[in-house]
Amino acid sequence: MNLNAKPVISLVSCEDYSRDKVRDRLSELLEPLSGIAGFVKPGQRVALKLNLLLGASPEQCVCTHPEVARAVAELVLKAGGKPFLVDSPGAAIPHKSFFLQRLYEKCGLKQLGIPLNTDEGYRSIPIPHGRIVKRMEILAPLLEADVIINLPKVKTHSFMILTCAVKNMFGAIPGYLKVGYHSKLKSPEQFGAMLLDVAETVKPALTIVDGIKGMEGEGPSGGNPKNLGILAAGTDPVATDFVICKLIGFPPEKVPYLALAQKEKLCPSEISDVDLRTDKEWESLSVKFAPPSTMSGKALAGFYPSLLNIFRPFINYAFTLRPEVSREKCVGCGACASACPEKIIEMRKTTGGKKFAYIKRRNCIRCYCCHEMCPYKAIVLKKSLLYRLLN
Ligand code: SF4
Ligand code: SF4
Repeated sequence: MNLNAKPVISLVSCEDYSRDKVRDRLSELLEPLSGIAGFVKPGQRVALKLNLLLGASPEQCVCTHPEVARAVAELVLKAGGKPFLVDSPGAAIPHKSFFLQRLYEKCGLKQLGIPLNTDEGYRSIPIPHGRIVKRMEILAPLLEADVIINLPKVKTHSFMILTCAVKNMFGAIPGYLKVGYHSKLKSPEQFGAMLLDVAETVKPALTIVDGIKGMEGEGPSGGNPKNLGILAAGTDPVATDFVICKLIGFPPEKVPYLALAQKEKLCPSEISDVDLRTDKEWESLSVKFAPPSTMSGKALAGFYPSLLNIFRPFINYAFTLRPEVSREKCVGCGACASACPEKIIEMRKTTGGKKFAYIKRRNCIRCYCCHEMCPYKAIVLKKSLLYRLLN
């Protein structure tokens, strides 16, 4: 993340996930970045860092699509590298071989024949220059890989507004340990600072974005699939996310980690600050995404910056969305309770014996981990009366 030279971001159109098309478009995508050979040398172990948030079919657009993973792995093999797929799932899922195997299968990755990481190991490493964390637990296979290629998907995110190149690196922290980061870093600004620390520490050599179909609305798991029709690539995750924001019509300054990176002069301010290489007119590639409903809450809070510190608890309560459990949709699986850093979700039973999640809202820090990890879209985000009036 260094803006002394304009970062090169490559974008090509790719309308669907057919195998040949993704493979051909991927080769074109990497041409402006000196091709795969610029990143992978013969014999190197190459970690392909997926988005493997939870067990969801490729059509649900939650995780990196298997055809993108396959095409990148084939290119790495061609360059003489040894690719393997790796990620740690969301906070409610243990980083254990058994659960990883199930996720690979559900996400359509097991069938590809690419080696899959099931190593549960991680190491705690010092981060002396970290903005907010000075030590971090990182998956051992990522630390031991010769090269890391980041393979995020373009999705909205209730807490961070966008999840793409930078946020995807949070998966380098194993399963349940993510909960602790949410618990310690409660504000979006603190959490965003930590995300920059992770991305700078587990530095991917290259990011290739699965933007063929993304997710809009209440992402990263509860939104709706949206055709974007692009693949994107860059060596700078911050600049990559800046371009993606512009592409889907989100102001980058509404994404907490990009706002911080802009303050630190690590993120472009204008699209002209990027060396964009596209196969079509930039404007014609743009597809507006519906933002997560939390984005307008952050806009309202940002409208009163001087009041923010004095009245933070009240503003947090009034201007951020509160999670609510839909009793009709809830199946009582408990994933939300496992993910909640404040441990304020308990499982209760109706008089008929049906299990459901109950949120003791008083201590809710609005991190939306419950919303992110619910596989049944049973956590809905609701506005307060004041929020509705002012909005
Ligand atoms: S709200 Fe969702 S994650 Fe929580 S128990 Fe119900 S179905 Fe499971
Ligand atoms: S209940 Fe509140 S604190 Fe717990 S996971 Fe959901 S949003 Fe976060």
